Amino acid sequence: MKKLVPKKVRVLVFATFAVGFLIGGAAYCWKSTPLSVLAMAIILGALGIHLIFYRCPHCGKFLDRSTGDYCPYCGQQMDPEEPPQDK
Ligand SMILES: [Zn+2]
Repeated sequence: MKKLVPKKVRVLVFATFAVGFLIGGAAYCWKSTPLSVLAMAIILGALGIHLIFYRCPHCGKFLDRSTGDYCPYCGQQMDPEEPPQDK
């Protein structure tokens, strides 16, 4: 399986959460049970994506809420496709 870059996982999880909350809002407005179940499933799915894929591409440790460019465990850069930025 191809490893996902944490930055992309974050975008994917955020987008999935956003869709889940939008559907949840619609379900609340329309008082629709199937829609609220769907919204719950999507939000749980987003959590699942976060837990499964939000890992360091180098050491594989779960990154939790870490959003830095470098892994807090092994110190490697998170995004191997992006060259290090010189300031
Ligand atoms: Zn690491």
